[in-house]
Amino acid sequence: MNIILLGPPGAGKGTQAKRLEERHGLKQLSTGDMLRAAAASGSELGQKAKEIMDAGQLMPDELMVKMIAERIAQPDCAKGFILDGFPRTVPQAEALDEMLAANGLKLHAVIEIRVADEVLVERIQTRIAQSETVRSDDTVETLKKRLDVYHAQTAPILPYYERQGRLITVDGMKPIDTVTEEIEAILSEAVR
Ligand code: AMP
Repeated sequence: MNIILLGPPGAGKGTQAKRLEERHGLKQLSTGDMLRAAAASGSELGQKAKEIMDAGQLMPDELMVKMIAERIAQPDCAKGFILDGFPRTVPQAEALDEMLAANGLKLHAVIEIRVADEVLVERIQTRIAQSETVRSDDTVETLKKRLDVYHAQTAPILPYYERQGRLITVDGMKPIDTVTEEIEAILSEAVR
């Protein structure tokens, strides 16, 4: 089963992806985690990624498409994958469709976890207040930039998947367990 989780930064995509990974043996593919690993390694790509991530901007489409294409071909994705943080632009979504078709793979569900911007700002403020170590892109200022980028560049993929009749939206402001239950219900329908 291959799934896409969409939604703004802080919507809970990573949390839900981890749960699906445990319950269904699917592989979580988080492009943000891949870029943070590259940044930690200090590689040239990593240094560029860190600058872009800290500025709340997006990495070039071509690079991200290549990163995902290499990843979904790995054996640990054989049972299926959950895309968390990809696609983030319409060109990425189009490239993904081509990539899946070329590999004979199907997309079983595209799930949007919808959360209002004000709630995301409150969540990040709570997180900063509660934790001692925060990610360098985990600030209210960067979140606001990331939300602008989300609305301008990522939100247009919602109508893209809606036109394909694939988009299902869940309310990401409900408790985490309720969101998980709703996603599970969507997935049971998707495999029927
Ligand atoms: P995330 O952990 O998914 O919120 O991603 C953290 C940061 O990595 C984003 O703010 C972007 O700078 C970058 N990034 C992650 N995924 C993508 C992508 N698919 N396309 C472009 N940039 C990305």
